[in-house]
Amino acid sequence: MVLGVRSRLFLLSFVLVAIASLSSSVYLERKLRPMLERTVEVELLRHARMVRETLIARTGDHTVEELNRLADRLGNAVASRVTLIRNDGTVLGDSNLSEAEVRAAENHASRPEVIAALASGAGSARRYSATLRTEMLYVAVRYELRSGAGVARVALPLIEVEALVRRLRLFVAVAGLIGLVVATFVSVMAANLFARPFRSLVDKARALARGERTRIEVAPAGEIGHLAGSINRISEDLEQAVRALADERDRFHTVLEAMADAVITLDSANRVTLANPMAMEFLGLRVPPVERPLKEIIRSSELERLLDGDEPVGPISLEFDLPVARRVLTRITPMRATGGHIIVMHDVSEMRRLETIRRDFVANVSHELRTPISVILANSETLADGGVPDTDQAARFLASIHSNAERLSRLIADLLDLSKIEAGRYPLALRPTEIEPELRKAIEAMLGPARMKRQTIESSGGESRTVVADPTALEQVLLNLLDNAVKYTPEGGRIEVRLGTLDDAVRVEVVDDGPGIEPRHCSRLFERFYRVDPGRSRELGGTGLGLAIVKHLVESMGGHVGVEAASPHGSRFWFTLQSAIRSDSE
Ligand code: ADP
Repeated sequence: MVLGVRSRLFLLSFVLVAIASLSSSVYLERKLRPMLERTVEVELLRHARMVRETLIARTGDHTVEELNRLADRLGNAVASRVTLIRNDGTVLGDSNLSEAEVRAAENHASRPEVIAALASGAGSARRYSATLRTEMLYVAVRYELRSGAGVARVALPLIEVEALVRRLRLFVAVAGLIGLVVATFVSVMAANLFARPFRSLVDKARALARGERTRIEVAPAGEIGHLAGSINRISEDLEQAVRALADERDRFHTVLEAMADAVITLDSANRVTLANPMAMEFLGLRVPPVERPLKEIIRSSELERLLDGDEPVGPISLEFDLPVARRVLTRITPMRATGGHIIVMHDVSEMRRLETIRRDFVANVSHELRTPISVILANSETLADGGVPDTDQAARFLASIHSNAERLSRLIADLLDLSKIEAGRYPLALRPTEIEPELRKAIEAMLGPARMKRQTIESSGGESRTVVADPTALEQVLLNLLDNAVKYTPEGGRIEVRLGTLDDAVRVEVVDDGPGIEPRHCSRLFERFYRVDPGRSRELGGTGLGLAIVKHLVESMGGHVGVEAASPHGSRFWFTLQSAIRSDSE
C-alpha cells in the first residue's frame, strides 16, 4: 500500500508523540520515585520529632498503658504508625497495637532504624513489616527523659508512595494523550497545508496528461513553486507543439483536399490508411476506403505485382486504366519509416485523348493529301515524258491534274480554316445578324449545283429572325450544310431550310430527303475526316472537314449543332444560335 503525503505526515507525528510520551514517563518515574520517597522520609522525620517533643513535654506517668494511648493519639494526628520504644528495645506504645499486644510485642532493639537512632539521634529503614504485612518506611529519633531514654518511631506504608507514582503515570498518560490529539490535529493541518499545493499539482498534471488546457496557480517561491513553474512551461511548450502540429495537419489536409491528383497512403500490409477526395472520385467510391486492402479498390495486376513483395518499392511510375473511364499515371513512393507506400495518381485521360486525336489527324491529313498529289505527279510526269500521243488524252490528263489540284486547294483551305478556328484566330465579329440575307446568299450559291441534279431548295418559317452571329461564319455554316445536302441527296431530291424559334434562341434546320445517316454514325459525324462512305465523299469532292468546320463555328458563336433522321427518310442537320431579340412577340 502506498501512503499519501498526508497519511505519512500524520503517521510520523503520531510516532514522534508516542515516543516522547513514553520516554518522558520512564524518565519521570525513574527520577520521581526516589524523590518522593525522600520527601516522605523527611516528612516522617518531622513527625517523629514532633512525637518526641510531645513526649518530652508530657508530664504524666510513663506506663505502657499511658504511652500506648499517647501513641494512638499521635498516630491519628500524623496519620502514620507511631511506636515508642525504650532504649533496651522494649515497646512501650504503638498506634497500631492494643495495650496487650504492646506488652507481647517482641523486642525492637535489633531494628536498624532503632540502632541508628540510639547511636546517632536519628535513623531510617525500609523493610517489610511482618506485623502489618506491607513494605514500610521507618524513621526513628532518640529521646531523653528523666525516667529513661528511648526511640520515637514513625512509619508509613510505602503503598502510599506507590499510589503517588501511579497517579503520576496517569498524569503523564493523559498529557501524552492530549499531546497526541494536538499532534494529530496539527499534523492534519500541516499535511493539508503542505499537501494542498501537491494535490493541486497532481490534479493539474493529470489534466495536462488528458490534454486539457490548464495552468497551475502556486506561489512562485519554494520547491513546489519551481515544480509548478516547470510544469507550466512544459504545458506551454506542449500546447505550442500541439498547435503547430494541428496547423500542420490542417494545411496538409487542405492541400490534400484541394489537389487535382489522387493520393492514397498504404501501410506495410498494403491497406489504405488515407485517401483524399480526388482518390475517391477516381475510384468511384462514396466512403473513404480506409483499412481496405488496395487490391480491392484498384484492380491492376502490375500494381499488385509491384507491391506484393516484402521490400518497399519505388519511387516508380506506371500507367493503367481505372474502371471509371480514366487513364492514370501513377507514382509509387515508399515510406521508409512505416514500411508503407504513397500512391499519387494523375489523370492523363484528356492528354492521351488529345494525343490520339493529333496522331489520327496527322495520319488522316497525310492520307488525304497523298492521293491527289500522287495523281498530279503521275499525270504530269506522263505528260512531261511525251508519253501522251494525242491531244484529247493530254486534255484528260490535264483535267485530272486540275481537279486534283483543286481538291488539294480545298483541303488546304478547309484545314487552314479549321486550325484558325481552333486556335481562336478566326476573326469572328459577333453582332445581331438577320438570318434571311445570309440564307438567301447561301441558297443562291447552291442553286446551280442543285439545278444540275434537278433538286429543289426551299426555305420555310418565313418571318425575319435576328441572331447573335458573325454574318460570314453564318453564311459558311449554311453553305456547308446545303452543299452536303445537295451532294448526298440523289437527283430530283427536295431540300428545305426551316427556321424555328426556341426560348431565347433560333433553330435552323437543313432537311433533305436523301438516304439519311445511320444512327451509329451520328455522334461522330462532326469529327474531322469522319465520313460514312469515304470513297463516295471523295468522289463528290468532299474533304471530310465540312461538318467539323460547322461545329467549331457554331460553338464559337455560342450555339449547338446536331443531326437526326428526317421522316420518312433523309437527314435533318440543325444548329441553334442565340436570339438577338429575346422574343418576336415582345
Ligand atoms: P464531306 O467533305 O465528306 O462531305 P463532311 O464533314 O461535310 O465531309 O461530312 C461528313 C460525312 O457526313 C460525309 O462524308 C457524309 O458521309 C455524311 N453526310 C453529310 N451530310 C450528309 C447528308 N445531308 N446526307 C447524308 N450524309 C451526309
